[in-house]
Amino acid sequence: MGLNEALSELNLVEQQVRGLESRLDGARRMVRAQEIKADQLTQQHHELTSQLKHTQAQAANIENDVKGAEQRIATLREQMNSVKTNKEYSAMLVEVNTLKTDKGKLEEQALELLGQVDQFQSEIDELDKVLADQSKVKAHAEKELADRTAEVGERLAELKLERAEKAKPVPPEVLDIFERMAENFDGEAMAPVVEQDRRRMEYICGGCYMTIPVEMVNRLITQDKLTRCTSCQRILYIEQELKAEMGT
Ligand SMILES: [Zn+2]
Repeated sequence: MGLNEALSELNLVEQQVRGLESRLDGARRMVRAQEIKADQLTQQHHELTSQLKHTQAQAANIENDVKGAEQRIATLREQMNSVKTNKEYSAMLVEVNTLKTDKGKLEEQALELLGQVDQFQSEIDELDKVLADQSKVKAHAEKELADRTAEVGERLAELKLERAEKAKPVPPEVLDIFERMAENFDGEAMAPVVEQDRRRMEYICGGCYMTIPVEMVNRLITQDKLTRCTSCQRILYIEQELKAEMGT
């Protein structure tokens, strides 16, 4: 088998392998995207929960302070009933009034914090729903990937073996070029020569549409050598039909 024939056969299998792999890749990307989204939502949930707990603790502290102030006021009021001097009585009254003012401020703060707690809680409830939906989407993507893997996995393994077999007659340095081009052009390592105008002998690369000198086309027909497009570097080949027509 000649080099160009071997390359064409390899190319055919390469494209089948890539075709199947791209179907799996799409499903894999989808699963990955859903995983990332789920992680972000879970992270958000953790943050909100910790803010909620922190705010609840702050509110509880302030409520304790309010209770402390109430107790102190009650104690002072009792003592005020049995004081002996006006001076003592006024001092206690001043303290009671100060405590009342402080207690009012603390109650306002507690109320504000409890409002925040409610807000966090409703955000968490909302996020719980989003997470539940997200988990369904993720499960769906995972099933899709499993189905596709089951569907094409075996065929893909066969094709990979076939590709290895088809690569054998290709010299390593040419195989290296083939693989690099396949990487660069998403599996399209080879490009056909396309006839633009036979009378004028104008030909272009079917990959990048740049002109191919007629000498290069002739060499492809007459010699079994690696020929690459000078513009895009893809490996050129001539389809049997064109080859036959040009031979006549
Ligand atoms: Zn080209």
